[in-house]
Amino acid sequence: MGKRVDIKTGFLCNNNCRFCVQAHKKKFGNRPTKDIVNDLKKARKTGCTGVVFTGGEVSIRKDFFELLTYAKKLQFMTIQVQTNARRFSYMDFSKKAVNAGMNEFGPAIHGHIPELHDYLTRSPGSFKQTYQAIKNIRKLDIYTVTNTVVVKPNYRHLPEMAQMLVDLGVNQFQLAFPHPIANAHKNFDQMVPCVSLAAPYIHKGLQVGISSGLKVMAEAMPYCVMKGYEKYVSELYIPQGEIRDINAVTLNWEKVRKEEGKMKFSQCKKCRYDLICEGPWKEYPEKRGSLEFRPVEGKKITKILN
Ligand code: SF4
Repeated sequence: MGKRVDIKTGFLCNNNCRFCVQAHKKKFGNRPTKDIVNDLKKARKTGCTGVVFTGGEVSIRKDFFELLTYAKKLQFMTIQVQTNARRFSYMDFSKKAVNAGMNEFGPAIHGHIPELHDYLTRSPGSFKQTYQAIKNIRKLDIYTVTNTVVVKPNYRHLPEMAQMLVDLGVNQFQLAFPHPIANAHKNFDQMVPCVSLAAPYIHKGLQVGISSGLKVMAEAMPYCVMKGYEKYVSELYIPQGEIRDINAVTLNWEKVRKEEGKMKFSQCKKCRYDLICEGPWKEYPEKRGSLEFRPVEGKKITKILN
């Protein structure tokens, strides 16, 4: 897998998710085109062959198609757009994005019914648009990998959610345990589920996808809460990469994520997954403690076999 750059194009968004991890940056608005073009050029120089445009919401930018065209001109092989997908509900818009260079689509969808998704995005009508967008993009045969943030209001519905994604014909889906910063920190008690309560529903959701032949993953779920589903832990597959943000460049995201983002515990030393596990996002045990993370017995392993 090639090296990948995630470019945060700015922080304005037409949704307002209750668990948004970028909410505190909204005041910075969107970044100028020239800064993003510079990021693209620099990322090519450091050897990135894939780019992920993320935000905020990149598709509401006036220069959206221009940025895609530029990435294509620089010969990025994978050009993914992470998006709430609402603008892609218009087929003309979807076609234009594909023609400009988008060859991977990364929509975020957080509920299997409008009442749930729209409650979480605080944007009436957003489910209908995101759902239509996925249909449009699949009609154009673009690889589609969805992301669903697992929160208190939706975790019991993950199997239905997964079935909806199968029926929509997505290629891959990810269920992501929330990173409790920004809105997810502010609304922690309403949004962040107990990892041990959410885990069985995450497993059932993954199983729906697996049984239908989809590629599936769960993010920020340590191995001790993924019994039987260890090989679906996202961190095993996150490509090597860098993050280019408004005032910061992280050239080794894996290192920063492990050393500053995640947390391990004294009991981890006795766990068979200790050498490969990143642990949960550190803000979770800071709020709820570490008792849910029980070491798994056995000889220490250095890789998960498929
Ligand atoms: S190392 Fe710690 S967090 Fe990771 S699986 Fe083992 S007990 Fe859980």
